[in-house]
Amino acid sequence: MLKPFRCSLHVHTCLSPCGDLDMHPKAIVQEALSRGLDIIAISDHNSSENVPYVLKAAKDTPLTVIPGMEVTTREEAHVVALFGDMQTLSLFQEYVYAHLSGLNDEKAFGIQAVVNEFEEVEGFNERLLIGATGISLEDLVDHVHGYHGLAVAAHIDRPSFSVISQLGFVPDHVPFDALEISARLGISKGREKFPELREYPFITSSDAHYLKDMAQATTLMFLENPTLDEIRMALRQEQGRFVSEEA
Ligand SMILES: [Zn+2]
Ligand SMILES: [Zn+2]
Repeated sequence: MLKPFRCSLHVHTCLSPCGDLDMHPKAIVQEALSRGLDIIAISDHNSSENVPYVLKAAKDTPLTVIPGMEVTTREEAHVVALFGDMQTLSLFQEYVYAHLSGLNDEKAFGIQAVVNEFEEVEGFNERLLIGATGISLEDLVDHVHGYHGLAVAAHIDRPSFSVISQLGFVPDHVPFDALEISARLGISKGREKFPELREYPFITSSDAHYLKDMAQATTLMFLENPTLDEIRMALRQEQGRFVSEEA
């Protein structure tokens, strides 16, 4: 039987240099639950080191956490990559780190804290996570699919770091699984703004960097279970699963 699941498939943690330090795993899970979210995806910039702790914090709660990452491509476009489990994300992480250079400047960009499910700091990531990888859009989406993940072009309506801001259009030959419309526009206005993209599934997500923003945009999906495979089916409108475009 299909059930509605309220999803926000793009949430940052305190590992992102731009993420608030209050965005630690336990707080994110508590906030998501208190706001009635059923599924969240953790998607820090070019890194996944807090994902295991968010998974642990959500264990034995009704919240489902999808392991993910927001990758910056060579073109400086953001793509949210979602995976079925942490092991797969770890393999994908090796690929991303192999194509990411530079060290973080905490004063310029912010702290990149790895925090466990008990609010204890495990360490600080020293890589330049805010930087662009050397991976092209095409190669990135290819790799995500190679790991049976989903690739979502992030906040396509935004004037920076989106596929459209960087290329001017959504390239036909890059098989995105969905396009994300930012919280400030929302899906229905996104449909009005981008009629040429009608073939793509649209989602909207909070892209939260602060706890208060965690539910500012959500997408309602009708699924049997809260899994990545079911989300894929909803995006493809398979076997009755679907993404609701109602606000
Ligand atoms: Zn982004
Ligand atoms: Zn983001």
